[in-house]
Amino acid sequence: MNTNKIKRVVIAGGGTSGWVTAALMSRQLGKVLDITLVESEEIGTIGVGESTVPPMRAFNKIMGIDEQEFMRETAATFKLAIWFENWGLKGDKYIHPFGVTGQPSWTCEFHHFWLRSQQMGLKDELGEYCVEWLAADQNKFFTRPDSKLNFAYHIDAALYAKFLRKISEGYGVKRVEGKIEHINQHPDSGYIQSLTLASGEVIEGDLFIDCTGFRGLLIEQTLHTGFEDWSHWLPCDTAVAVQSENVGPVQPYTSAIAHDAGWRWNIPLQHRSGNGYVFCSRYMSVDEATSQLLAAVPGKKTRDPWTVKVRTGRRRKAWNKNCVAIGLAAGFVEPLEATSIHVIMTTAARLLQLFPFNGIDQSLVDQFNKETREEIEEIRDFIVLHYNTTERQDTPFWRYCKNMEIPESLKHRIQLFKDVGHVIPNTGGLFRLDSWVHVLLGQRVMPRHYHGAADVMDDERLQVFLNNFKSGVKNAVATMPGHQEFLEQYCPARVDVWGKPKG
Ligand SMILES: Cc1cc2nc3c(=O)[nH]c(=O)nc-3n(C[C@H](O)[C@H](O)[C@H](O)COP(=O)(O)OP(=O)(O)OC[C@H]3O[C@@H](n4cnc5c(N)ncnc54)[C@H](O)[C@@H]3O)c2cc1C
Repeated sequence: MNTNKIKRVVIAGGGTSGWVTAALMSRQLGKVLDITLVESEEIGTIGVGESTVPPMRAFNKIMGIDEQEFMRETAATFKLAIWFENWGLKGDKYIHPFGVTGQPSWTCEFHHFWLRSQQMGLKDELGEYCVEWLAADQNKFFTRPDSKLNFAYHIDAALYAKFLRKISEGYGVKRVEGKIEHINQHPDSGYIQSLTLASGEVIEGDLFIDCTGFRGLLIEQTLHTGFEDWSHWLPCDTAVAVQSENVGPVQPYTSAIAHDAGWRWNIPLQHRSGNGYVFCSRYMSVDEATSQLLAAVPGKKTRDPWTVKVRTGRRRKAWNKNCVAIGLAAGFVEPLEATSIHVIMTTAARLLQLFPFNGIDQSLVDQFNKETREEIEEIRDFIVLHYNTTERQDTPFWRYCKNMEIPESLKHRIQLFKDVGHVIPNTGGLFRLDSWVHVLLGQRVMPRHYHGAADVMDDERLQVFLNNFKSGVKNAVATMPGHQEFLEQYCPARVDVWGKPKG
């Protein structure tokens, strides 16, 4: 145990992770902590990370952020779902919506009633019982303060960091521009004492947050914490990204389109689109991926493509000595379900809840590391699910994914669904039952049986129940304006296609 009181917090790095941590910490604990953030414009940030998940709205609420102001400043759009193409088989399409689907009974979940209706010969899609699914499919959107719609945002990563910087500085965070050249450790304990910048300036602290991205300057290069590699389960190791002008109305969903050796994303913002191809370099070269990406992206490109090498896995300890890693420094799971910014937010929140004001106790560190590991492992399993349940055999990449060994935890989940259609209840993780059901069915994993409780209604009553529910969803979506139309009146972006202030 280290009994030194913790008062001075130094955040190394000013990407999304650095500024999210600084904003949350300064808003909640700015009165009792001295917070300094060091970032280097010369090094820059990763420049991707623009799709989010619904709990971001809870983060904004805690931060007291006004939605319209946030959306205007970050050129944000709404996100109701993820649109998948070519994952089960080439030509397949399914939507993973954020909302609740149907209405369960006490004994069994809604999808069992839907499975029975399919056996009765009904041909509707499960998503027709979900408002978010139908609104995404029809490119519609509407919200107001009492709305029950479950949604997230697409944000411009560079504008988001600026937005959070302004908030953080307002709560007293001191920002230092400069390149960290040396990390000074206590000769006996190995605890980090200070950072020396290229300018010679020395920044001392009690607790250091490593937000330096894949470099892991403090947590790995200095403390040699170790990395658990998951690339055998998630083999994509490279991404090519490019930005482009929007073509047509912006959609309220992220697209994830499977290609020969990975998948391509499209993230529609108000002023432009973010695009990229995440792929496995064992099966495709950067040149080939870049040319496939450029050919697939409609609209004029507004920035030259850039390549990012990624490594999937997690730091063995997110908290080691007096250093806590957040963001890419802590680990990486590919952005198929846009989970990284969420994990940054939950990790920063966890740190505040377990903050070591009176010194660093090992029990606290162990608890923090356990919760952080469990959260990321559940996300990892959900992402691996998309690959391993493919029926594609058309390229070596997809053959590898289909036949690879997967974590035992995931194997059990898939088998349980195949056997009896059961999904393990959510225990506080990100993905709720509906998410697992939509992705499992979308990937063509069909249960052999539905739950017997779905037979309690006779055929006619079941049809009436389903028809009534479906009509309610249809009516709710029919009254919504188009997504683009709603954005234009609710939160028009203040920037042009280059991200520069308009006018
Ligand atoms: C291809 C791809 C797509 C992604 N898409 C999504 C997505 O859609 N949704 C999502 O939630 N997440 C996504 N992510 C993840 C997301 O980009 C990151 O989680 C997020 O941007 C946070 O990055 P970071 O702040 O940890 O690192 P970075 O953005 O790399 O920031 C590192 C910071 O450290 C600073 N720094 C580094 N070294 C030094 C030094 N020596 N001295 C001073 N400063 C230094 C840099 O200047 C920078 O400010 C994606 C990731 C990749 C690779």
